[in-house]
Parts: sequence; structure tokens; C-alpha cells
Amino acid sequence: METLPATDEIPRFAADRMLARLARWLRLLGADVICDERLDGAAMLRRARVEHRVMLTRDKRLRTASDVLYLEPDDFRAQLRAVLTRFPFNVYRHAFTRCSRCNVPLGRVARETVSARVPSFVYATQENFAQCDRCGRVYWEATHPARARREIDRLMRR
Ligand SMILES: [Zn+2]
Repeated sequence: METLPATDEIPRFAADRMLARLARWLRLLGADVICDERLDGAAMLRRARVEHRVMLTRDKRLRTASDVLYLEPDDFRAQLRAVLTRFPFNVYRHAFTRCSRCNVPLGRVARETVSARVPSFVYATQENFAQCDRCGRVYWEATHPARARREIDRLMRR
């Protein structure tokens, strides 16, 4: 398996609204990605520039801009590989530190405080919990475990 060079700093992205699934995956890998279905490509590009983000788009009209990564593929896995080829970062180091829906960093929470909000078998078997302050979703280490790691491995291999 080819090893990607790691960078300490993960680039910040803005994804157009055709790339919502890609945005969620990049967040699971730790990247800061904004995606807003109310904004069209041009509006998102303006916001990306204001916030110094790399724009990810499937909009052909934007492909000539120098600060845009145009993604031809329809499949999110191929899109993700294209992003990581252009902007390699260590996908394991920061994985699962950010809410995949809200794009905010997760905070560690005391185990007792989540007992009513997670399945009892999870509570019984897990020690460490994290929470999204925005949506309240609780994450635990086994939320993403082996299956997600395998998926990452598969994505990296092709
Ligand atoms: Zn959230």
C-alpha cells in the first residue's frame, strides 16, 4: 500500500452543494469543510475566497479558476481520492475528531452524562465519549471503528 506523505496542517475546504457526501467524508477524516445547499457554485466560491478555503466543485464553469479543484468523477470515493492526491494529509491522525454533519470539532464529555443518550450496550462497553456541541450527537470510539477504518484503507488503495 502506498503511503501518503503527511502534512501537519489539513487544508480547509469549501465544497459545492453537489459534493455533500464528499464533504461528510472529509470531515470524518478531520478536515474542516463547509458545504451549504443554499449557495450556488459562484456564491460558495466567493465565500471560499473570503475564508481562504480551497474550493471543491463539480461545476465545469469554475474549473479554470486557480484556487479551485474541479472534480470530474460522480463517485464520492473517486472524488475523495482526487482531493487526497492533490492535498495529501494524514487521514488517520485526525479522523473522527469532527462532527460529520455540523463540521465542528468534537469535545470530550464525561461518560455519565451520555448514559441516557446512547444504547445501553454501548454505554456498558465504551469508556470514551465525545459530543458535537451544535447538534448534540454523541460519538464513541466504536462508532466508526473497524468498518470505517477499512473503508478508509480501501479508499487509499486504489
Ligand atoms: Zn453535529
